[in-house]
Amino acid sequence: MQCLVCHHDMVERKITLDLHIGEDLVGIEEVPATVCENCGERVFTPEVTRQVQAVAQERKERARTILVPVFSLGAQVKA
Ligand SMILES: [Zn+2]
Repeated sequence: MQCLVCHHDMVERKITLDLHIGEDLVGIEEVPATVCENCGERVFTPEVTRQVQAVAQERKERARTILVPVFSLGAQVKA
């Protein structure tokens, strides 16, 4: 496959995609893409595009992410 932008040869590669969803920046790893090593143009299959959109949609529908600290009494309490 040749790059649509610069006509350089493109290679299949797994990339990390940075996705802006609203104000959030989300990284998606291991995204299969065809990448131009010359200009960096990236092409995704319709299936990959669909999956990326599904991840973005899922992220959007989750109202917020909270982190809950977890404590253990395992060391302190003797049964
Ligand atoms: Zn290119």
